[in-house]
Parts: sequence; structure tokens; C-alpha cells
Amino acid sequence: MSVVIGLAFSACSLFSGAGRGRREVHIVTVDNNVCKRLKEKVVIYGVFVDSKVGGVWSTHDVRSTMDSMRIAADWIEAQARMQGIDLVIEVASHEKGGVVPVRSELPRAGLDGVIRGSNPSNLIDRWADKACRQVQSSFPRDTASITLTKNMPKDRERLIARLRDLHGTDNVALMLFVNNYHGSESSIALHTGSTDRIEYAVVAFKRPAVIAHEFLHLFGALDLYITPYDSKKEAEKRKRFAMDRFPNEIMAFPFRGLDSLQIGSLTEYLIGWRRELTREDAELLAGEKVRFAKY
Ligand SMILES: [Zn+2]
Repeated sequence: MSVVIGLAFSACSLFSGAGRGRREVHIVTVDNNVCKRLKEKVVIYGVFVDSKVGGVWSTHDVRSTMDSMRIAADWIEAQARMQGIDLVIEVASHEKGGVVPVRSELPRAGLDGVIRGSNPSNLIDRWADKACRQVQSSFPRDTASITLTKNMPKDRERLIARLRDLHGTDNVALMLFVNNYHGSESSIALHTGSTDRIEYAVVAFKRPAVIAHEFLHLFGALDLYITPYDSKKEAEKRKRFAMDRFPNEIMAFPFRGLDSLQIGSLTEYLIGWRRELTREDAELLAGEKVRFAKY
């Protein structure tokens, strides 16, 4: 089974922050972590990770996946233009100008199995850190100042700091690709609502719509479709409603072709293209009890 999920481990941490009286609510993924608002210059950085379970990348596979990244980026740029948003997305990778093999073994269960198992984000983080360390060490000697405040940055934090320096932007969307021939792997965006762990996505599909979907998660978008991880009836009901309300929404239908999809008003708010939620979208998220923050 193929699934694309975003907040599998943190669906109930959707809201945070409370004041007196009528609460003002911030959605934890919005304007948060490395990828804040989807505006101005943004880099989507692909890391192609070889592994026994996930497969090995050929030059052809890398090239076709980077083509898909470009198609996804062009589509998002076009959506931004329609909203009058200034956005340029640069597609980059450690493979540029010669193959730099990166290898990090997935647990035998593969990505699907890890996600369904216990403590998945720790396992995937370790796997991702190992891959990021190799990418980082393939660069010329590091003279960049690490701008993050931590004393002991993890490998993917070091890599992000370096990429920010190299590309001259804070907005670096890190995507690790698993070469999956069989279409049976999941894709996932991790730590999008975190304040202390760097967010990134792991993608096992070459489809531009899936890449765009995960990319939007990194900038705060939420899943608007029913995943196998939805246990609460209320969440399911909300998502069913969202799918009716946004019949062409990329966060609801990531397995359709990009040409038939669009970015709906709720996602626009989440990624920073709209200052405030529409009333209908706010009700969809939380009923009438709360007031959502304006950005
Ligand atoms: Zn998703």
C-alpha cells in the first residue's frame, strides 16, 4: 500500500499556544522550523540515498527524479504567481556535476515498516543523519559559520547550515530520496511542527505531485486526506469534509497528476500565502471555539 503522510506522529499536536479568554491559536507547522513561509528564494535539495532495502541510484534514476523535482517546483511557482506571491525555487542536489554516492542502510522493514513500527522518527533521523554526514563531507572544506544556536549540531543541521550559506537563503527544503522501483514505500515529512529538530522529508516516489506535496508539508501544509494513521473519528470526519471542500487540493490527492491539482485556501494560509484563515477553513479546523493567528 502506498501512503503519503505528513503529521503521522503529531496529529494531536496540531495546535499550541493559548491566551486568556478566546484563545488565539497557532498551528505548530506554520511559520516554524527551517522552512517558514514559502516565499522569495527557496532551495529544494535532494539527497539520493542508496541502501539494500531501498535500492541503489543509477545516474538515470537521479536525473529523472531531479526532472520531477523541477516539474514540482515549476508548478508551485506557477501557483504562487497566480496569487501574486514572489517565489523562486532552485532545485539542487549533491549529485550535481558528478555522482557522489551516499549510502545509509534502512532497517530491514524498509520505510513502510519503520513508519508503522515503534519510535519511527528516531530510526529515520539516524538514517538521515548518516546520509547527510556523507553529503556534507563531500563539500570543500567548511569555512561557513554555523548559524544555528546549538553547540553540538546534528549532521542534518550542519548540512542545512552549509546549504543556507552556499545558496544564500534560509529556506532550504531537505528531501532524502529512496530509490523505490515497486511503489510500495511511504513518503513522509518529519518534524514539521518541531522547535528543536530540523524538518526534512523522505520521499520514495518520483511523481512530481508527491514531491510537491511533501515539499508543501515542509512549509507547514497539513494532510487533508484520510491516512491509515487516522484513529480519531473527529479527525476523519474533518478530513472527509476537507476533501469535499477542496476537490483538487494537492494536500488531499497527492496521487493525481499535477495538472489537475491546485493549492486551496487552507493550504495557502498554512504555507504563508494568506495572512488569515477564511472563516470556513477555521471552522473546518476547529469549529468556532478558537481564533487563529494572523501572520
Ligand atoms: Zn502528506
